[in-house]
Amino acid sequence: MSTRVLVLGAGFGGLEVTAGLSERFGSNIEITLIERNEHFVFGFSKLDFMFGKRTKSAIKHGYGTLEKPGVRVVRASIEVIDPVAKRVTTDVGTFEADFLVVALGADLDPSATPGLVESGYEYYSYAGAVAAQTALENFTGGRIVIGVTGTPFKCPPAPSETALMLHDYLESRGIRKESEISLVMPLPTPVPPLHEGSQALLEAFATRGIRWFPKHSIERLDPETREVVCADGQVFPFDLFLGVPTHVVPEVVANSGMASDGWIPVDPLGLETNYPQVYAIGDVTSVGTPKAGIFAEGQGRVVVERITAHLNGTPTGVEYNGNGICYVGFDAQRVARFDVTFITGQRPYGIFDAPTAAISQEKDDYAASRLVRWLGAES
Ligand SMILES: Cc1cc2nc3c(=O)[nH]c(=O)nc-3n(C[C@H](O)[C@H](O)[C@H](O)COP(=O)(O)OP(=O)(O)OC[C@H]3O[C@@H](n4cnc5c(N)ncnc54)[C@H](O)[C@@H]3O)c2cc1C
Repeated sequence: MSTRVLVLGAGFGGLEVTAGLSERFGSNIEITLIERNEHFVFGFSKLDFMFGKRTKSAIKHGYGTLEKPGVRVVRASIEVIDPVAKRVTTDVGTFEADFLVVALGADLDPSATPGLVESGYEYYSYAGAVAAQTALENFTGGRIVIGVTGTPFKCPPAPSETALMLHDYLESRGIRKESEISLVMPLPTPVPPLHEGSQALLEAFATRGIRWFPKHSIERLDPETREVVCADGQVFPFDLFLGVPTHVVPEVVANSGMASDGWIPVDPLGLETNYPQVYAIGDVTSVGTPKAGIFAEGQGRVVVERITAHLNGTPTGVEYNGNGICYVGFDAQRVARFDVTFITGQRPYGIFDAPTAAISQEKDDYAASRLVRWLGAES
């Protein structure tokens, strides 16, 4: 019987593990990829959709094109994970494996911030981005607050990019002068590990008249007065609130007993959990990198190496290097590159490359290449 690998979640991490193992072993391995959604959506394309750059159908990539040797895609909702037995129960049946890879991402909990569901819009989920897009279309001017309601949150530069894109969007609609954009965040700088990149963003905010409020912890939204209320008592009145909601580990993971202090602990170099032959990658872990797809993908590559070495009975020298590139659009033509490395016990470090049209093309190429690699979609 060939080795059975269960990959839970078809996001950045799960798709990379699936593609990598299929490439290595072809039909000599049984990979079962379990995913509840019908489509894959890049996080960053939710912003493109919200601000009218791409249509709903253009940002949704169906899993139907994923046909790879050794891979079976199961559309199902995972209900129970038993990491000891390496068994998973779903709404369509039970699956067992020799290796388990948990890549279920982070769930969002807007209700953790009182008043957010009643009077604001979270825009991090697909459904939230769709609702926020309609709210933006109906917006005719006023005060918009972009607020980060807690840490950790996916793609730390994304709220800054949201503010810049919002500026351009309001300009294009001719209502920027009648509008105020405020960005309220708990972080001290837009991208703390990269001083130069943070400075570039702060300059971009200043040039565009975007109000920036660092080190602010949002406590609640008041639906009556339509104000954001911070822990220090400061309030921000709003006509439209676009929020980054609280992130939590998926309930099925919490119930599995794998999480500790909110997320799944893993060996930062090998991504193995406390359970033998059970790996966890990406946003669902507390591995020490930011919650971003590029890191989930890099971790997925290491898991492929680890499982390969295990099956071949060879030692592996491959360790996770904590490196990832985040692309941040400064305007419609130019994108900046934040190349950052996070190593346990060290200060994160990296290189910032100022926004250019060439980097914008690089970002497009990155996305297109992943769609081909992961889903077999045409570029
Ligand atoms: C607005 C925005 C912009 C972003 N920009 C960037 C960027 O520029 N660069 C970058 O690297 N990252 C970016 N991100 C972050 C990125 O999208 C996530 O960090 C990344 O998707 C995490 O990958 P993952 O594999 O850990 O989890 P996910 O990609 O979230 O995948 C998890 C999968 O598990 C599935 N799942 C969960 N629970 C169940 C269940 N019970 N049963 C079945 N399936 C389940 C989900 O449906 C999902 O498909 C952005 C995010 C947002 C919201």
